[in-house]
Amino acid sequence: MRIDRNVKLGYHFMVKNETLGYLGLCMDRRFIEATRQAFQQKTGLGDTAFWQESWPGGAAVAHDEVGENYAYTHGARIFGWQAHGDTCGGQPGVANEDIQQRLDVMIARKVEKFPDAAHYRIFVTEGVVSIREITSGGK
Ligand SMILES: [Zn+2]
Repeated sequence: MRIDRNVKLGYHFMVKNETLGYLGLCMDRRFIEATRQAFQQKTGLGDTAFWQESWPGGAAVAHDEVGENYAYTHGARIFGWQAHGDTCGGQPGVANEDIQQRLDVMIARKVEKFPDAAHYRIFVTEGVVSIREITSGGK
């Protein structure tokens, strides 16, 4: 009984004080781990401090917004938006440069949608993870 109470209090404390995030990325298995590592390194978010959602094409293509809305409503204020090059199954035949352009357009919408959150642009290719914060000014 006493232990249960302590556990609950500890959990409550953690939830109330922890910074939370959301990571949206392409489901491509090659880049999931590298993306998570880069996002966590850059933001300091712990393993369980962010929601994660992946779909074909990642943040470069439109996706239903249920997950990101849920995360935001439940406290997420650090968002990571990932897409990758070197052949994306969600964007067949699209060149790396064009995927990045799509990603920029989509992120600009997210910055407008969640203006009080931090937004990170993540673009991954074989061997290189590029991550940087995007401000409401654009790039
Ligand atoms: Zn992909």
